[in-house]
Amino acid sequence: MTSLIVHYDEIGTKSDNRPFFEKQLVRNIRRACPALQGVRIRRLYGRIQVGPAEGLDIEALGARLRDLPGIAWFSEVRALPVDLEALRSAVRDLPLPDGIRRFKVQTRRSNKNFPLDSVQINREIGRQMQERTGWPVDLDSPELTLHIDVTQQGIFLYFDRERGLGGLPVGVSGKLVSLLSGGIDSPVAAFKMFRRGCRTLFVHFHNYGRDAQEVRQKVVRLVEVLARYQFTARLYLVPFSGLQQALVTVVPPEARMVAYRRVMLRIAEPILEKEDAKGFVTGDSVGQVASQTLDNLQVIYRATRYPVFAPLIGEDKRTTTDLARRIGTYDISILPYQDCCSFLLARHPETRWSLEEAESYERKFPLDRYCQEARESAEVLVVG
Ligand code: ATP
Ligand code: MG
Repeated sequence: MTSLIVHYDEIGTKSDNRPFFEKQLVRNIRRACPALQGVRIRRLYGRIQVGPAEGLDIEALGARLRDLPGIAWFSEVRALPVDLEALRSAVRDLPLPDGIRRFKVQTRRSNKNFPLDSVQINREIGRQMQERTGWPVDLDSPELTLHIDVTQQGIFLYFDRERGLGGLPVGVSGKLVSLLSGGIDSPVAAFKMFRRGCRTLFVHFHNYGRDAQEVRQKVVRLVEVLARYQFTARLYLVPFSGLQQALVTVVPPEARMVAYRRVMLRIAEPILEKEDAKGFVTGDSVGQVASQTLDNLQVIYRATRYPVFAPLIGEDKRTTTDLARRIGTYDISILPYQDCCSFLLARHPETRWSLEEAESYERKFPLDRYCQEARESAEVLVVG
């Protein structure tokens, strides 16, 4: 019989509403691992126990837990009753890996009623292991560490532990609208908000031209990968070409990118309200491109009454790219595609557009009507 112990991350810092966070994490584990149907999942103090159960596919479960926000680390464990004899006998029969030369025992005892303290357990079980294997103890650089957690509800024995994603479980922080381009940054930005417990829905603007199917395919694949973290996601595909054609007649080429971005927020705002989301998420990072100078970002963000969160704002591209690889979006993001925002831009775009100018251009044509038309022709997909 095997169990898994899951240690959650920041939930430990919550006091009164801790059960709220823990229950969400348990729900997410159940959803992520259909194989656990009928298996007991218990909330213990500071950790979650999955099992014990026969025939748990640890490999497959690990693959899912690795991708679940809110988990600090997890481990396959042997669960024992709180009893010294049970501990001794489990250590006697414990299957051990080959080729080990140095080991140590590391005990954590939260159950103060146990007759031995953690130092005494280390010594006693260390001696027993030594007699059984002949391996020397090495406290500084052991090749194997036997962990013993003595809790109120049981003793847990394990060797390795695997790090999780950390953060908070998806579902504890409310909903956001992710503005998803086909690039590297915006999927990573959405992921960062999952890790803060948010759910997102996705809005993508397109001016499908000749590679219509490829672009669509690419964005849908990105959302499929991202949906794994929150189980399912809604994707709005919004046509942008009508608006763009109208915009380019009034906005000079140097300022078009900022104008496009403002219009995206205006189109998406009623979607945010309908979905009861609390703000937008973008992949902006200060200074990355001309439209992402502080001056231009404030002109862009002031197109909406809602907060715009940009979790990559102070990040460098390399860190973002590494994270994109880790979460599985990078290979899709680098596929070539026709970005709607590259439509009729200047080679040297304006880095400091003013809000007054932006607004004066927008008054020159029936912007609201165009926005509404775009929204009404959006295609809505449920992914995952
Ligand atoms: P990435 O494309 O991933 O963001 P980037 O550096 O290319 O990185 P821009 O193209 O300048 O960024 O866009 C900045 C942000 O604007 C994106 O991160 C995204 O949130 C939003 N955005 C840009 N294009 C679109 C689009 N076609 N649909 C929805 N949102 C978009
Ligand atoms: Mg982009």
